[in-house]
This record gives sequence, C-alpha cells and structure tokens, in this order.
Amino acid sequence: MRSGSNAPRVGSYNRNVVLDAIRQSAGVSRVELAGRTGLTQQAVSNIVRRLIQDGLVSESGQIQTGLGKPRMSLQVNERANHAVGVHIDPHSITYVVLNLVGDVVARRARRPPAGASPATVIRQVARAVGDLVAGSGVAAGSVLGLGVASPGPIDAERGEVVSPPNLPGWQRVPLRDALAEQTGLPVYLDNDATAAASGERWVGRTERSGSFLFVYLGTGIGSGLVLADQVYRGDTGNAAELGHVPVDAAGRPCHCGGRGCVEAYAGLPAILAGLGTADGPGYRDWADLDAAVAAGSEPVRAAVTEAAGYLGAGTVSAINMVDVNRVIIGGQVRGRCAEIFRAAVERAVSRRAIARSVRPLSVEASLAGQDVGAIGAASLVLHGNYAPHTSALLADITPR
Ligand SMILES: [Zn+2]
Repeated sequence: MRSGSNAPRVGSYNRNVVLDAIRQSAGVSRVELAGRTGLTQQAVSNIVRRLIQDGLVSESGQIQTGLGKPRMSLQVNERANHAVGVHIDPHSITYVVLNLVGDVVARRARRPPAGASPATVIRQVARAVGDLVAGSGVAAGSVLGLGVASPGPIDAERGEVVSPPNLPGWQRVPLRDALAEQTGLPVYLDNDATAAASGERWVGRTERSGSFLFVYLGTGIGSGLVLADQVYRGDTGNAAELGHVPVDAAGRPCHCGGRGCVEAYAGLPAILAGLGTADGPGYRDWADLDAAVAAGSEPVRAAVTEAAGYLGAGTVSAINMVDVNRVIIGGQVRGRCAEIFRAAVERAVSRRAIARSVRPLSVEASLAGQDVGAIGAASLVLHGNYAPHTSALLADITPR
C-alpha cells in the first residue's frame, strides 16, 4: 500500500491513495485510513467527504472499537463506475465488464473468424463491446472506458499494434484510435502480459500489493512487472518480454528473429509441434493439454514438464535482473498444466536466483483465473482513473 503526502498540491494523488486503501480493505474507518496512508486525519476527512459527494464511497455502518465512540466504516460504491476490457488473442477474443472494486459483472468470449483482416476484427470488437454493455444492465454513463490487451509488441505512444508474431497480418494497426472512434469510449492499449499483471494487482487487492513478476502463458509467453504497486512498462511499453529471453544462445530459431528464446521451447505452439499434433490426437490449446494430462497421458505430461523447465530457466534470468521475491503464474494455462509450470519455476528460482540466500522467493498461481488478460485490460481503465500515480505527484510538485 502506498503512503500519501501531506505536502501541498498533491490532491489527486492523495485522493487516489485513500480510494485505493478503501478498495483494498472494505470497511475501514477514517482513523484507520490515516494510519495506513500516513495522511493527517484532517486530510483524510476532507478527501473522504469529497469521495462521498462524488458518489464513489459510502458509509456502510459503524465499527465499535473498545470503549470509544463508534467509527463509521467506509466502502467503495462498486456500481459507481465500470470499465470494459477486451483481450485480443489469436484464438479467442474475451470481453469483460468490471465494477469499481474489480468484480466481473459481465463476460463473453468469441473465436475470431479465421483469416479476418484487422479492420474486420476491430469492427467486430466495437460492436461486441456495445452489445455487452447494453446486455449487462450497467448504466452506459458509468462506463469510464475500454481497455485493450493485445499481443506485443505495441507502440504505446501511438496506440498501435506493431506486427506481433502471434497476430499475423497486423502491421502497425492503430488499434487504440480505431476503437475509440467506433465505440466513443476512451481507449487504453497495453500488451497482454502487462495488462494481466495490472489485472492481478487489481483483483488480488492486499494479497497482491507491493512487487511481483506476472508470467503470462497464452498462445505466446510474456510477463508483466509490478514494482512497488506501479506497473512498469519500460520506454516503449514492451518491458519484461520473458518469452524472448534467450535460454540457449545457439538454440532453436524463434519467430521473433532471435534464437533459443523461452517461447521457442515453452510456448504453446512449440509444445504442440513437439507432440506432432498434425497426425496425432489433435491437441489445439491449453484446455486440450490439461485434459490429456488429467487423463494420464505420459507423453503430454513429459512435453509440458520439459517446456516448464525452459520457462524456469528464463524466469531465473528475469528475477536476477529485477530482484522481486514473488512470481505469479497465470493466463490461459490451467489445472495440472499450470501446476507443472508453477512447480518448475519454483524449483528453478529457489535453486538458482541470486537473492534466494537473502530471502525466500514464492511462486504462486494467479488469483484472477483464465480471463486475467481481459480483466487486466479493464483494470487499465480503473488504474488510469483511480490508482495513485507517482507521475501525478511529480507533475503536481513541478514548479509552474
Ligand atoms: Zn523470440
């Protein structure tokens, strides 16, 4: 949890620190908020009064503590605002509507038509967003925006998808502006793994505060970094490309143009190719692989275990670079397959990460489930509007 600042001219930052603290622990009192945020009780009272006036927070009852005067407990009005999230994956487009506390209030998933042009997909997404909001029962005016998670690389500044290896035919597609024009909503674009990391933070509340590396297993492999409650994006919005960390300098060619990348061994297409699916049992996705492992298929278990070893090696490199002590494994991977990956990454980092001798590293399963990409996309909107941004703090104290 972040601390507020009692210096002047940091209004929006402090408002969001307080809102974030109420969201993370529903039922807190003003006095507790002052303790948690480091703000004065007077500052907390003023901010809470404005949050109540704006309809974002309400008093939900009294907390009796000891012999003193009972305190009013506060909670976020979850229906005050909503955000829509879309995750564009080559095999499935997932849509969710999130309320202000991060609960999914509506969801749908569609297979994109095979070989459709980016323009066709964009039109379809815009229509589906409108239909989902209309059918979800949320007030259209409460929707703050649309978050979009796309396979990387992206050009964050221009809002463009830049030739992702996992989206053939998408070359410099101005996804953000096209969707903004067709939906009339503000649009936030991020790569899918970074969006997933943001989603995990939003859904996990206090369990996911602080820093962690989120490893995303979908069609490709990516990761997202949350450092001290801030999503780290890098200079171009493509930080933490774990899938293209080399684990064998002279290894297999990768579709990114490099060699020996994690994704060339541990990505879904690599596993499927290794199993010879063309004339084999016809596995297509993580659900098929998980069903095979659950049914006792040794070849599939062995293939997933070998892939997981490569992901473990790549994750050790990532952890040695950024020194965070938590890794979260999630995405479309599921069930027993997810556990094979989690256990392999845990083994690798607990034996080989440099910081292991200083403090233990934990490797955990995602709390957000398989829709974490879409949930993460929607969380970008909530984060953009309501999370405490240190950039706002810096802007506020820049001399005018
Ligand atoms: Zn690569």
